[in-house]
Amino acid sequence: MIKGLQKVTLIDYPGKIACTIFISGCNFRCGYCYNSDLVFNSKNIPNIPEKEIIEFLKSRINLLEGVCITGGEPTLYKNLVPLLKKIKKLGYCVKLDTNGSNPEAIQDLLNKKLLDYIAMDVKSSLDSYPKITNSKINKVKLRKSIELIKNSGIDYEFRTTVVPDIINKNEVASICSEIRGAKKYFLQQFMANEKTIDKKYNSMRPLKKESLELFREIALDQVENTKIRA
Ligand code: SF4
Repeated sequence: MIKGLQKVTLIDYPGKIACTIFISGCNFRCGYCYNSDLVFNSKNIPNIPEKEIIEFLKSRINLLEGVCITGGEPTLYKNLVPLLKKIKKLGYCVKLDTNGSNPEAIQDLLNKKLLDYIAMDVKSSLDSYPKITNSKINKVKLRKSIELIKNSGIDYEFRTTVVPDIINKNEVASICSEIRGAKKYFLQQFMANEKTIDKKYNSMRPLKKESLELFREIALDQVENTKIRA
């Protein structure tokens, strides 16, 4: 369900003035997730009717360029296709944030030409996924999403939050072997947040900038366009 609307963002959609729509529900339970309300307690957050979102977008046609769809995991939302069709009809570019667990949905959205940008989290080496997501994962599906996105013909990025107690040099090397040759890769600085699923991340300190620089050096071997997002 649609649970949130950030009416303007200059940072969520690279190069575009956008708004962000938040969809509830996720199939992962990442300890450092700071959208825990969307993952666990979405029943306590009122739904925003789709009609309200579309009316808002109509009123911003000359002011906003893009719409980010985030979560939770938006591909689990059963009304995603009709929603995106309406948004595209208004002339907006659409960016999807995804955890990559649902390649069938990504393929369908690409086939229907409903996406202009995909940002996929590659959270860790695939072997560390169960630890970082606290969930059963399907490596085949994650790899399929990576390949689909790389070959999508649209703009995209892969990104990793540098979770201090999990991400290290070996993890970065392993992630980059999975996304080798990708167009863009971001190492995102971890930020402690009081709403994280696992309370140990409430006050954990991020790694120093030098560590991220070192990780970037390692990543550059396989992904030329690797950047740090602080
Ligand atoms: S950080 Fe993990 S648990 Fe939170 S929304 Fe993303 S995939 Fe789901």
